[in-house]
Amino acid sequence: ENEEQKKMFHAMDLAARFYHHLLLHEKHGRIARQYLEKRQVHIETIKEFQIGFAPPSDRDLLLRFLTRRQFSVDLLERIGLVITRTSSFQNTSFDRFRGRIIFPIHDSQGRVIAFGGRSLGSQEPRYLNSPESPLFYKGNHLFNLHRARKSVRKKQQAIIFEGYMDVIAAWQAGIHTCLATLGTALTEQQAKVIRRNTESVILCYDADRAGLSAAERGSEVLKRVDCTVKIAQMPEKMDPDDYIRRYGASQFQEEVLAGAQTLTAFKLEMLKKNYHLQDEDDRIKYLTAAIDFISELPLIIEQDHYLRRIADEFQMPLDVLKAEQRRMKRRKK
Ligand code: ATP
Ligand code: MN
Ligand code: MN
Ligand code: MN
Repeated sequence: ENEEQKKMFHAMDLAARFYHHLLLHEKHGRIARQYLEKRQVHIETIKEFQIGFAPPSDRDLLLRFLTRRQFSVDLLERIGLVITRTSSFQNTSFDRFRGRIIFPIHDSQGRVIAFGGRSLGSQEPRYLNSPESPLFYKGNHLFNLHRARKSVRKKQQAIIFEGYMDVIAAWQAGIHTCLATLGTALTEQQAKVIRRNTESVILCYDADRAGLSAAERGSEVLKRVDCTVKIAQMPEKMDPDDYIRRYGASQFQEEVLAGAQTLTAFKLEMLKKNYHLQDEDDRIKYLTAAIDFISELPLIIEQDHYLRRIADEFQMPLDVLKAEQRRMKRRKK
């Protein structure tokens, strides 16, 4: 860590304090506090996560605050706090984050390296993150790692969410093994970081199409570094933050986390949703599709395992399912 980097970390730390101070400021932070209150983020949580606010009014509030403390505009630009627009007449610099709730992002040592900013309403983009910088390669870091690491090691479990608000809601509800990626798919580097702390991982992504494909890809990446992966399933269109707010932490533990299942079981579950199982024809169609899917699994013991599950579930002899599997294979040739 050289002088330059030291300065960058220092500027980031001051920025985090500044935004946090503004959030707690009686007048400047009022609308932001109201927003967080509406989302049931408690004051203790705001403090714990050092959540902040960049007011909408002033275009260079942070810039002025930090340049007064002898940080150069150039440095602030390189760590993504400030944007400079160049025209033939003049350069104008202004704060990147305005009118946004600010979530500090830390490295594993707990130093602030970036921010996530959420708009207060539905203004797009809803989330704006710091750009990559000498301090911040988003594929290397995980939101909340420095806070969660101790619990992750002790419980030998990590729960990965999509969003900051999911982590914050879970943490507030007493679930302290929660992490999130930073607006991207889980990378191999992140998977390795997780693996250093625990083998067992639960992916708890939003119950929408994006969340499903993120779970599939994330699960592949984690398996490559020898993690054991389970997928937690949420009711349609909900995310963990919505769920915890609506049903509470203990139901989240018991229904969502405890019910986490392997990717294959999860996919079978998804497949099932395309059929009306009360309907006899549809039951047969589902069974056929499920056998077809299971036949693609790489290990025979895995195929056997899931065929047994289906046999149990539909009270069918395993032999019949296996005979069907053979028949389908012959037909495909
Ligand atoms: P909220 O509950 O605040 O409406 P969310 O966290 O549920 O938001 P999602 O749309 O589910 O938001 O996105 C999950 C996460 O993906 C966000 O927390 C953020 O980290 C990231 N993200 C979403 N949209 C963007 C974006 N436009 N740019 C960067 N990151 C984004
Ligand atoms: Mn989503
Ligand atoms: Mn979400
Ligand atoms: Mn959400």
